[in-house]
Amino acid sequence: MSLIKVQGVIIKSINISESDKIVTLFSDKLGKIDAVVHGARRSRSKFLSSTQPFCYCDYVVYKGKNLYTINQSSIIESFQSILMNLDKLAYGSYFLELVDNITEKEMKYVSILAMLLKTLYILVHGDVDLELLRLTVSFKAISLAGYMPRLKGCVKCGSKMDYGVFSIKEGGILCSKCSIDGEYVYELNRQTLHFLHTLKNIKLEDLRYIKYERKMVEYLQNILTKYIMYYTEKDFKSISLINTIKEKGVV
Ligand SMILES: [Zn+2]
Repeated sequence: MSLIKVQGVIIKSINISESDKIVTLFSDKLGKIDAVVHGARRSRSKFLSSTQPFCYCDYVVYKGKNLYTINQSSIIESFQSILMNLDKLAYGSYFLELVDNITEKEMKYVSILAMLLKTLYILVHGDVDLELLRLTVSFKAISLAGYMPRLKGCVKCGSKMDYGVFSIKEGGILCSKCSIDGEYVYELNRQTLHFLHTLKNIKLEDLRYIKYERKMVEYLQNILTKYIMYYTEKDFKSISLINTIKEKGVV
């Protein structure tokens, strides 16, 4: 049994018995792994806090036949305040789900882990519009995971353009000659396309300084969510909670 030290964030937790659970750990050295935590649900367990979603810890794990087991843990940042605020919990859950949906098991995604941590810190401090943060993180994350849509030049003929239609199925923008009608096709005007390029390059910590229209952010988020679901073939459970919060006008 060889012990491996990793740092990572718990992105999912499933109870498997009255005392045990399986967590999905998004880690630096092993990538995304599933790990059993024995006794984690007992009230006096040393793993009680360190195996909750959002928790960022040093872990010691070992590999069994099918799964890893967490042997030791030491909390670096628990992000507990996310769990205590409904808006933060909804958006935080979306970020964990996003990372889970766009990554494969046991592949390293060091940049996505770094971005997730930065996102969670921003979420805790709460000085960025959560919808703007969600759009920017979604867009950057799919680029880092290799799902980047093509936004410079028509996907079909290559002609240069600064507006057009975005086709989810074609994976990028199309010029007026190549554009097609139908499902999964959305207009992108100059301003919107320019805004997407801005988001691609901006640092998350600078988001609070940019000017934007909330309508445009929501329009783009709708396209991006469909895009991610189309290519990953996975659903987002957290979106219904976000939508409920938005309908009530909280966010
Ligand atoms: Zn074209």
